[in-house]
Amino acid sequence: MIQQPLLITGGAGFIGSAVVRHFLAATDRGVINVDKLTYAGNPESLEDLASHPRYEFVHADICQRESMAQIFARYQPEAVLHLAAESHVDRSIDSPAAFIDTNVTGTYILLEAALEYWRKLAKSAQARFRFHHVSTDEVFGSLGATGLFREDSPYQPNSPYAASKAASDHLVRAWHHTYGLPVLITNCSNNYGPRQFPEKLIPLMVLNGIEGKSLPVYGAGDNVRDWLYVEDHVRALEIVLDKGRPGETYNIGGHNEKTNVEVVELICQLLDELFSQSSHRPHRSLITFVADRPGHDRRYAIDAGKIARELGWRPRETFETGLRKTVQWYLDNQNWCRRVQDGSYCRERLGTKGQA
Ligand code: NAD
Repeated sequence: MIQQPLLITGGAGFIGSAVVRHFLAATDRGVINVDKLTYAGNPESLEDLASHPRYEFVHADICQRESMAQIFARYQPEAVLHLAAESHVDRSIDSPAAFIDTNVTGTYILLEAALEYWRKLAKSAQARFRFHHVSTDEVFGSLGATGLFREDSPYQPNSPYAASKAASDHLVRAWHHTYGLPVLITNCSNNYGPRQFPEKLIPLMVLNGIEGKSLPVYGAGDNVRDWLYVEDHVRALEIVLDKGRPGETYNIGGHNEKTNVEVVELICQLLDELFSQSSHRPHRSLITFVADRPGHDRRYAIDAGKIARELGWRPRETFETGLRKTVQWYLDNQNWCRRVQDGSYCRERLGTKGQA
């Protein structure tokens, strides 16, 4: 039995799988990965760790109260890193229900299970416990041409995804103020890096570029996002988990503001350079502008001063170095990409080969 592990929810997703990898490689902590394996959960992202002695995967839904209570009782975690969520804005516009179920109700159920566990723990010994909720800068809404999101910026979520994450942030905060649960909240800007599901901007553009397909950019491509390499986010999560003050919120961002079209142009340059067999050079000619997403937020940008001053975290990658690593990873891992694109990563584990 793994002693006092970290309980990571959503560890089969993009950021969660990087979190699992980091804690197994860079620390001697045990990791329990609780994941429902929705379309976004891919066990192949963690295939090489399946028999790691400090790792265990538990196939479970955070909305299932009984299962969550059993998991806390069985594994006695030292902390929860809660990443499980529905995470794609476009899907939240088409079908918001799953976002309310997992992001709001699921977070509530997890908080209840954590509170019951922590109350028993606090009675038996003064053991340390943390509930770390991983959230997004999208809860703050949209910025104009200037200004940055700070921890005390007002919540103004615009998409169903952002609203569901905002609701979950409020629940986590309330469980601290009302019940004393030792929580931490982090709000991070857009992540990019290896193993991101190819519905998101950067992997979609890289994979379409590799195949010579068009590179669809919303509107005029002038929406601004503040990009952070996933491993920099993961290091920030570890620092907040270990050194953050319970009840506090920390913003995490990369100081890498780019318009969407700038991002796609950089990807095209990297593909021109790194993908030498391509017959589609220059990839820039594949860019096409498509109808904008409804309610598309104009600009996000993070003031990450608090986490830098109080906890000493700073990103290591620039956008250029991180993007180069990312494009190279997709070029080197085309089997992972193919199996995600044709759905076989999903069909085989569900035993429904051949179904859509
Ligand atoms: P993702 O969509 O890649 O992964 C989500 C994971 O959660 C998947 O493995 C999925 O199977 C699992 N999951 C979904 N519903 C579940 C449920 N009911 N029970 C158990 N597991 C469930 O998401 P991501 O991009 O890795 O984001 C992880 C977290 O970080 C999310 O909470 C997201 O809001 C937050 N976040 C993401 C970004 C970003 O740019 N991707 C930025 C800031 C914050």
